Amino acid sequence: TILQPQVESGVESQQEESLRPQNLAEYIGQKDLKQLLEIGIQAAQSRGESLDHLLLYGPPGLGKTTIALIIAREMGVNCKITAAPALERPRDIMGLLVNMAPGDVLFIDEIHRLARMSEELLYSAMEDFRIDLTVGKGTSAKTRTIPLSKFTLVGATTKVGALTSPLRDRFGLIQRLRFYEVDELSTIVSRTAGILQTQVTSDGAEEIARRARGTPRIVNRLLKRVRDYAQVTGYPQIDSTVATEALELLQVDPMGLDWTDRLLLSTMINQFNSRPVGLEALAASTGEDAQTIEEVYEPYLLQIGYLQRTPRGRIPTPQAKQHLGLED
Ligand code: ADP
Repeated sequence: TILQPQVESGVESQQEESLRPQNLAEYIGQKDLKQLLEIGIQAAQSRGESLDHLLLYGPPGLGKTTIALIIAREMGVNCKITAAPALERPRDIMGLLVNMAPGDVLFIDEIHRLARMSEELLYSAMEDFRIDLTVGKGTSAKTRTIPLSKFTLVGATTKVGALTSPLRDRFGLIQRLRFYEVDELSTIVSRTAGILQTQVTSDGAEEIARRARGTPRIVNRLLKRVRDYAQVTGYPQIDSTVATEALELLQVDPMGLDWTDRLLLSTMINQFNSRPVGLEALAASTGEDAQTIEEVYEPYLLQIGYLQRTPRGRIPTPQAKQHLGLED
């Protein structure tokens, strides 16, 4: 279960911090986004203003949090990181907002899950940099206004369609993060190997990259597991043979699918006879969480063409059947 993206031990996530690129130049891939940010940051800096609010969407592990941290660093300000479930009560988000210094970056992960009251507070905060509060009830109710410093909100979501339009409309820039190409992931492996002081050949890096589902977080995690394997089995460096052996042991197949991916596909093929199946039915049959299936597993299966979404449900494609050796 080490490979399940949602499971994260404290040590692992601490190590992840040390692997984060520190500036845009170190941030690999996502060319268009990087270019837009470079221009935005330069323009804002030359005007002495804060950067416009930015909404990033895409599957977990593609580098959304990293972007927020890089923006803050490049702008020379602080970045506060939080997630919507931690902002249940309006006063949680108020506390954060009133303590922002001019230009600071506020990163809110899973922003589509904000409670309604908290979200409504954000509207005037984002647009006019103030909070309007209603104090008291009925005829004696008064509105109090709290001014805020100009700040930059970086919102992140795995489900952009779940955002309300008033919230979405308040972002100046809305950008999708793409899955990474194998060569980009290989570069990330080499960079991470340098930080971890591990020897990886270019074949070894590519083997790990090919099995990382287009995702930097996964490529780093696989590299650490392969490093463990190489160390214990006494290999001096990670080449494609070691990488393949270790990843087979971890049950990550050549397409990067793990045990859960294969369970989802084989359930659709065997149990539902490849007919359209709803998310809840699939979750119930596999014992996986519906939200995790939708936001973590499905995007990559859709990307590689193993899954299709139809109005009546998801169906596995012939390529998926072929990959699993389940052709009829
Ligand atoms: P998200 O917020 O989208 O879930 P993160 O920003 O936390 O993803 O990124 C996960 C990990 O992947 C980070 O620790 C970082 O080391 C690595 N990473 C992400 N994007 C890149 C990139 N473009 N180049 C190098 N490493 C990256």
